Amino acid sequence: MARKKASSVKKKPTTKKVAAPAAETAASVEEKAISAVTEPAPAEEKKEPAAKETVTAEKKASPAAEKAAPAEEKKEPAVKETVTAEKKTDPAPEKAAPAEEKKKTTAKKTASKAEPAESKKRTSAKKASSVEEKAVSAAAKAAPAEGKKRTSAKKAASVEEKSAPAVAEAAPAVEEVSAVSVMSNLPRRSVAFIGSECHPFVKTGGLGDVMYALPRELVRLNCDVRVILPRYACIPQKYQDQMVYRGEFYMDLGKTGRNYYVGIMEYVCDGVVYDFIDNQEFFSSGNPYLNLVDDIPKYCFFSKAALAALNYLNWIPDIVHCHDWQAALVPVYLRTLFQDSPIGHARSILTIHNLRFQGIYNIPTIQYWSGLPDSVFGMGALKENYVDANMLKGGLAYADRITTVSGTYAYEIQTAEYGEHLENHLRYHSGKLRGIVNGIDYGMWNPETDPALAVHYNRDTVFEHKMENKLALQKELGLEEDAGKFVIGLISRLTNQKGLDLVSSIIPQVLDGNTQVVVLGTGDQQYEDTFRYYEGANRGTFSACIQYDEARAHRIYAGADALLVPSRFEPCGLTQLNAMHYGTLPIVRETGGLKDTVQPYNVFTGDGNGFTFDRYDAGLLLDAINRAKTLYFTNRDQWNQVVRRDMEKDVSWENSAKQYKDLYLELTQW
Ligand code: ADP
Repeated sequence: MARKKASSVKKKPTTKKVAAPAAETAASVEEKAISAVTEPAPAEEKKEPAAKETVTAEKKASPAAEKAAPAEEKKEPAVKETVTAEKKTDPAPEKAAPAEEKKKTTAKKTASKAEPAESKKRTSAKKASSVEEKAVSAAAKAAPAEGKKRTSAKKAASVEEKSAPAVAEAAPAVEEVSAVSVMSNLPRRSVAFIGSECHPFVKTGGLGDVMYALPRELVRLNCDVRVILPRYACIPQKYQDQMVYRGEFYMDLGKTGRNYYVGIMEYVCDGVVYDFIDNQEFFSSGNPYLNLVDDIPKYCFFSKAALAALNYLNWIPDIVHCHDWQAALVPVYLRTLFQDSPIGHARSILTIHNLRFQGIYNIPTIQYWSGLPDSVFGMGALKENYVDANMLKGGLAYADRITTVSGTYAYEIQTAEYGEHLENHLRYHSGKLRGIVNGIDYGMWNPETDPALAVHYNRDTVFEHKMENKLALQKELGLEEDAGKFVIGLISRLTNQKGLDLVSSIIPQVLDGNTQVVVLGTGDQQYEDTFRYYEGANRGTFSACIQYDEARAHRIYAGADALLVPSRFEPCGLTQLNAMHYGTLPIVRETGGLKDTVQPYNVFTGDGNGFTFDRYDAGLLLDAINRAKTLYFTNRDQWNQVVRRDMEKDVSWENSAKQYKDLYLELTQW
């Protein structure tokens, strides 16, 4: 789930401004880059005199790879014609060449300066530095290794052999907790997770939770998992300090004409290996997501560097599992520039955590930064319209399987209402699309052990201890301390997706004297201001916590009676799962994963997990809240039964992880 704004970290002004390529430069460089991809190796080598010092991360696309453009292209002859016609009249890209040129020189300096700084933090410095030397030389030689099928294959192959031991010799990362019970009767598969955020290093929303919890569960299902992440400067120092240097190399990128430093820093925890891609030029800002001008180059670099790093580490997984638009170019790289490199053997899965964020920018810019061949910029893959390329769209075309985070969302995104303009593309690829609902990590979310709570509880002690947590929460937030009040929580990014216009329009009716509302979130100014206003106008009954605070979120799940999730759309939603697990009844709109995980309470049979409404309408939300209040105030026994049922409900990762494992096995039948 890509976020415009990460609230867990402070925004720092970015040090790097990325310029779009100039029209002429782009055109000429483009020609060179395309020929570099398609021409035989000797010609390519001539163009890159510095290539000896560089890990040319990708292999030139083989003729087969060129043919690998998705079948959709073939089925759209009319579109193809348009594409060729457009190629001739390629729109002039933005003029920023001089600036870009200047940056090339300054950035080179930065890159070389950055190196010592990056190595400062290396632990076991002595060992690391000697290994580093080896790794550097291995990396320098590794370029031909990755291109071992080039004409100079013999030489390259021997270099690759040399490079492997250098990497293997690097100091192993320290395993923080090693006791993981692996179900070794299951077939073993290796998986590389590639994504832009992961708890506890950096998290702005549900993607961070999934990148944390799913790999851990997959380890138990006998998977060998590596999580590849950017090494953002905002990752807390305590994790930075525990990272171990695993190697470095230089990689070319797109048509920039430059070689970029790629460091690999490693951290191991609970059987999962985390490899952080280090490059201060791209990842030094205090916030993972800035704006597309910065983010497009950043994630082109990251996607390519992730694959190059796997080649460099000589760790070739069976599956490359990519997440959201930030890693969506990975399947495209895999079937083009990396097709004939070792990692080219891996199968790919792209998971959509939120279709709203797609990584769209003008074609010349994405061509410039990605260096991908022309063939992927057709309507069947990256091309979005006459001027734009869409990174997610390209990934969906090239991935072997597409998953999204609930069955209902998998259906919804094929409709115009939820498809975010990709519904036709998704319908076309529906044969490889699956919905697998998210779970929550029971280690992280457990009211019996949760260190953030005032009082621990389980399903036997929930009724007495939830009251104590409620009173503690009221005290913490300056609300009237009264266990008899009905407390409604809302924990969310404050964006248009989350149904906050519905919430803000009914607050006066919700605050009836017996109800308190607690909002925790950051996001769009209009919602932040609205909730601040309500807090000012309703001191003691309304609390607006405009912040990102993990521990406080846990205390709200424990202290509230109900949690609101009235989203306009919701791919899966985790807050309703957390809430149920903490005995807090969800009030949700029937969309996406909310529909799949919350069964509406039936007043006649007493069945259900929460309160739901279907159309996106403030009156219906108010009605659902009133149904919840009625049950709470008039039939507490029945309410308590639902609380207990929710706490017993299996919302763990176990089932979902098994479905992912099945998918991996389906893709790798041997
Ligand atoms: P999304 O990924 O769309 O933001 P999800 O429901 O999938 O929404 O995941 C949200 C996750 O982020 C949950 O774990 C929730 O507890 C957490 N979260 C959201 N906002 C905050 C906040 N302000 N402070 C702490 N945690 C938050």
